[in-house]
Amino acid sequence: MFESYEVIQNAPMRDYTTLKLGGPADWLAFPRSGEEIAGLFREAREREMPVTVIGHGSNLLALDGGIRGLVIRVGKNMRGIHTEGRRMTVRAGTMLSAAAAEAAEQGLAGLEFASGIPGTAGGGVCMNAGAYDGEMSQRVTGAAGLDPDGREVRLSREELAFGYRRSAIAGRGITVTEVTFELEEGSPDAIRARMAELNRKRAEKQPLDQASAGSTFKRPEGYFAAALIDQCGLKGYVEGGAQVSAKHAGFLINRGGTSRDFLNLMRHVARVVEERTGVRLEPEIRVLGEETAE
Ligand SMILES: Cc1cc2nc3c(=O)[nH]c(=O)nc-3n(C[C@H](O)[C@H](O)[C@H](O)COP(=O)(O)OP(=O)(O)OC[C@H]3O[C@@H](n4cnc5c(N)ncnc54)[C@H](O)[C@@H]3O)c2cc1C
Repeated sequence: MFESYEVIQNAPMRDYTTLKLGGPADWLAFPRSGEEIAGLFREAREREMPVTVIGHGSNLLALDGGIRGLVIRVGKNMRGIHTEGRRMTVRAGTMLSAAAAEAAEQGLAGLEFASGIPGTAGGGVCMNAGAYDGEMSQRVTGAAGLDPDGREVRLSREELAFGYRRSAIAGRGITVTEVTFELEEGSPDAIRARMAELNRKRAEKQPLDQASAGSTFKRPEGYFAAALIDQCGLKGYVEGGAQVSAKHAGFLINRGGTSRDFLNLMRHVARVVEERTGVRLEPEIRVLGEETAE
């Protein structure tokens, strides 16, 4: 099956997510091009297999029972950056850090906010990733990809319909293959200094040496999830092998536990915060796959 592609059968998702959690994906593919993705879609459809698309896995909780069907990782085999004037086009598997570094090299400002976000350009567009007052929606002018039937599509910024940590990508079942940014001219040294400053702030506040998927919950309107969790006395709270980071209460971390521990911790935190503050926390991370039987 999937003979003409780079694939792994029974691939442990813990090896492909920054949370380092998750059972096996039946099949995990590393396509090199949009054509290969379309071919994988076709083969999966012939076998009536569900398909899941991921990037670097930095916003994912894969469950212990694993993921049925085919997981397509748009990553290492689909990287590349092309700049023309102030326009930068990157293949979807390009890491945002690499795109930001190349922009600085070319004297192009506007991606500094993204340099510390540990995901791909495709995942960044899907999530409308953002930090420090910047977000993808401000810089992305369009994306190319494939619809669920494997047909090529191009989406303008308007069609991408960016919102807070979301875009039209997931709802329309589009697999992003290329992203275009419009940047501004700037001095490479000033751009690098800004990136270094933001990354220093990030390292100071966030538990970057622990397994996490970044902020577990979305920012509820008018509040900060981390402040609410802290206020409820949950900073450092442990549930099995999962913990609310003692450094940043918005980050739930995996300390050698299971996805079940992590889900239990998420539920506990959300329940306590709602009981004590009346604010409902919604997950920012995407949960994939199946739970194991109790
Ligand atoms: C330490 C740490 C810090 C973080 N800081 C931030 C931050 O400051 N700001 C922020 O917004 N996020 C942050 N994150 C979360 C995460 O890095 C972002 O959400 C990132 O954009 C996810 O990209 P990814 O490639 O890892 O996508 P994945 O986690 O693999 O996938 C996320 C979603 O995107 C979809 N997707 C991925 N690639 C594609 C594609 N090619 N086509 C279509 N859909 C696709 C997936 O289906 C899934 O729904 C952080 C995470 C960590 C671990």
